[in-house]
Amino acid sequence: MALLEVEDLRTYFYTEEGIVQAVDGVSFEVERGETLGLVGESGAGKSVAVKSLLGLIRPPGHVVDGSVRFKGDDLTEYSEAQLRNQVRGTEISVIFQDPMSALNPVFTVGTQISEIIEHHRDVTHEAAWSRAVELLDDVGIPDPAERADQYPHEFSGGMQQRALIAMALSCEPDLIIADEPTTALDVTIQAQILDLFDDIKTKYDTSMIYVTHDLGVVREVCDRVSVMYLGEIAESAPYEELYRNPKHPYTQALLRSTVSADRRTEDLDPIEGSMPSAIHPPSGCRYRTRCPVAFEDCSRGEPPRFDVGPDHDAACLHYGDGGDGDPKLHETGRPGTGVGGTGGDR
Ligand code: SF4
Repeated sequence: MALLEVEDLRTYFYTEEGIVQAVDGVSFEVERGETLGLVGESGAGKSVAVKSLLGLIRPPGHVVDGSVRFKGDDLTEYSEAQLRNQVRGTEISVIFQDPMSALNPVFTVGTQISEIIEHHRDVTHEAAWSRAVELLDDVGIPDPAERADQYPHEFSGGMQQRALIAMALSCEPDLIIADEPTTALDVTIQAQILDLFDDIKTKYDTSMIYVTHDLGVVREVCDRVSVMYLGEIAESAPYEELYRNPKHPYTQALLRSTVSADRRTEDLDPIEGSMPSAIHPPSGCRYRTRCPVAFEDCSRGEPPRFDVGPDHDAACLHYGDGGDGDPKLHETGRPGTGVGGTGGDR
């Protein structure tokens, strides 16, 4: 049994303009010790999906269908009190993009970490404080005993993010959800934080969901990747397989638009068009209005996720019985990018 099994999750927002189908039938699993990357452009539904797991969706949003099995129990059946006392911060921790909005400016960093420990564990204040200092040390904060007595504004942006990671680790959760945790940081600090995530995974044997718009970042920390587009999973595979052999036209477009060691900035090929509205998504395949290899059947029904390799699936009709099994991406892929010509082979 996987640590987390999300099945057919649907989260809708009931607005005056209409029903925003932000997450619409999403399924994925996270194994113990595994890091899953949830990737896609802004508006893909990644953050809504992970907030839905923890009951953090507020009206007009609602989880309208699906199950979220964590260690076998369905979290969608938990009350708010159960989620708050038994799950959030203890079994599953979240690290958000902006550390300053997550840290309380009027309490010292040590106080904020030790309070979480005291709230969830039967320990003395001294023991909790001492553990807070240890955690600050674990996340690479120098002079942790002195730093524990400082306020968030006395920390740099990178140090604040490290403090948040220490808070997330404070109850040694089985799963950490990191929602764009390095987006607000400069490139050097981002690399340091990604290294830290790698160290944490090993030391704490924690599973992780890493939410990002950047496939390049995913490469540093993730074992598997699920690519989201307009509320649905377009493709899912182990990272190396996805990077070497992307099958879904959207994944291929994402890779062509991503900076990497073997792709110069001038070779980047931005994805054309913009994400359609999740209130009136296109009929059939939601990617068809931007897909360079769409064909007639793409408007008729939503493509299921077809097996396209070991532990690898893609929601594209080219891989189903009705498709020709060849998205002809060599015609749209750019030579020398490692995408398209090599990605289209099966
Ligand atoms: S199903 Fe059609 S529109 Fe969707 S990704 Fe495949 S080819 Fe493109």
